[in-house]
Amino acid sequence: MKKLIAGNWKMNGTAEQGTELVSAIAEGLRTHSALHESCDFLVCPPAVYISVIKGIASKNNILCGAQDCSAHENGAYTGEVAAPMVKGVGCSHVILGHSERRQYHNESNELVAVKAKAAHEAGLIAIICVGETEAERDANVQDAVVGRQVIESLPRGANAQNTVIAYEPVWAIGTGKTASVDDVAKMHSFIRAKLQEHLADSQNMRILYGGSMKPENAEELLATPNVDGGLIGGASLKADQFLAIGLAAPQN
Ligand code: PEP
Repeated sequence: MKKLIAGNWKMNGTAEQGTELVSAIAEGLRTHSALHESCDFLVCPPAVYISVIKGIASKNNILCGAQDCSAHENGAYTGEVAAPMVKGVGCSHVILGHSERRQYHNESNELVAVKAKAAHEAGLIAIICVGETEAERDANVQDAVVGRQVIESLPRGANAQNTVIAYEPVWAIGTGKTASVDDVAKMHSFIRAKLQEHLADSQNMRILYGGSMKPENAEELLATPNVDGGLIGGASLKADQFLAIGLAAPQN
């Protein structure tokens, strides 16, 4: 399976900086054109920049995604962006249930499932984020927490074509701490087994790792069984680091 190298830009940068960033990624991919054989590259800019970034991305075989979408299709939901709108500006993916949304916007598994359903209906691939907090890992309940998140956040009709899971231990996001390769291997295999219980084509569903992934740790993380790519925050804001993560992936 080709790895998915996905950048979550979060709420960072100006439109000009985003344009420079995607242009630099495109330039790097022209230099390392074989990278397209081993990895798909996705950038998820702030929603208001998607149109401008998408123009450059699509000319250079880089996918574009949003960081969230509404559970509603349209209507009086001030400030929200509907899944068909995300699709309409040319996105292929949408990140859902990121821990920052779960934490700061009280998003539940049930809401994430409704959003994912809306994303699927609009023809988007939902990247559903799951992951335990530090306290949950300390209490050794990470499997129970993540297993429940996976099952409850997956809507009916989810399959390997329309859904990606991103395992992101909350304590590793933006902290510089990374889960050990052993812990990542165990959790990804646990998630694969959970998917197997519920989906026919679970073997083909991508499971990304996210949490302080950077060029220095990407090689071993991306070589870990059941790690089908990375969801990258901080290091996706620097073209050379984002590309270096792709270069660290096993080459086909
Ligand atoms: C993220 O926000 O999804 C993420 C993994 O961030 P970072 O790479 O900065 O830890």
